[in-house]
Amino acid sequence: MFSPIKRFANTPVMRPLKDAEQPRPTPTPGASPSPRPDSFEPSKPSPTPSPSPGKAPPGYGTGTPAAPPAPLTPPSTDPSNPTPPMEVRPSKSDRYNDRPAGADIDTIVLHHTADGSDRNSLTTLTGDTDGQGIFKKGEQWLKDKKNGKVSAHYMIGKDGTIYQLVGDEKRAWHAGDGSLRGDGKDVNDRSIGIEIVNEGDGKDGYTDEQYKALEQLVPYLAKRYDVPAGNVVGHKETNPQKKDPSENFDFDRIVRATEKKVG
Ligand SMILES: [Zn+2]
Repeated sequence: MFSPIKRFANTPVMRPLKDAEQPRPTPTPGASPSPRPDSFEPSKPSPTPSPSPGKAPPGYGTGTPAAPPAPLTPPSTDPSNPTPPMEVRPSKSDRYNDRPAGADIDTIVLHHTADGSDRNSLTTLTGDTDGQGIFKKGEQWLKDKKNGKVSAHYMIGKDGTIYQLVGDEKRAWHAGDGSLRGDGKDVNDRSIGIEIVNEGDGKDGYTDEQYKALEQLVPYLAKRYDVPAGNVVGHKETNPQKKDPSENFDFDRIVRATEKKVG
C-alpha cells in the first residue's frame, strides 16, 4: 500500500530532472523591473543558495550536471512544527517571480488542475515537456500563449505525492485576477497556491491519498505562516469566474484539519 503518511516519515527525496542541464534564463540587462510584478516575465535567478551546495542530484545517468533546485523552504527548526518531509520535485521552472518587498503570506489557495494526469498537470505547471516529444512541446507552447504561463507552489498527485514546484518565498502564478473578499490586493502576492490533480468535471473523485496529503500540508503551511483557517480558500472564492476546486471536493475536511492546528 502506497501510503502518503508513511512517506511523510521519510526524509525529503530530491527527484532529478531529465534534462537538468538546461540553463536558466538570464535577465535582460538594462530592463527596468516592473513596479508590481504581475506579468509573466521570467524572474531573476534566486540569490538563495542551493540547500545542499555541491550535492546536486545527478541527471538520469547522463553524467550531466543537474540544474539547481528551485528555492525551497528551509527546514523548520521548531520540533513542534516540523517540516513535512515531502517528495520534492526541484523545478527548473522560471515560472515565478519575487513577491513584493514586505509581502506577507496570509492566504492559501486550493485549485484543481483540470487534468486527471499527474504528468500532464506537471507539464502545464512547469512547462517541462522533456521526453514527451515535439507535439507535446507545441501543444504546451500554444497553451502558454493562450492562457499565459501558470504555476503553483505545490501540486498534489493522484497518489498523494506532494510536489513542490516553486519555493514558498517566491510568487507563483496561480490565482490571476481577483482578490480575497474583494479587498483588492493581488492574490498571488500574498498566497501559497496548491494545485490538486483532478479533471475538475465534478465526476473525477479526489483520492483519499490526496486528502491525507492536504490534511498534512495545509495545516503545516497555515501554522508556519500564521494563515487563519478562514483564509484557506478555493480559487473560485477569489475569482467568481473560476470553478475550482470542483463541487465534489470536500473542502470542509481540509478546513477542519487546519482549524485543529491553528484554531
Ligand atoms: Zn485555479
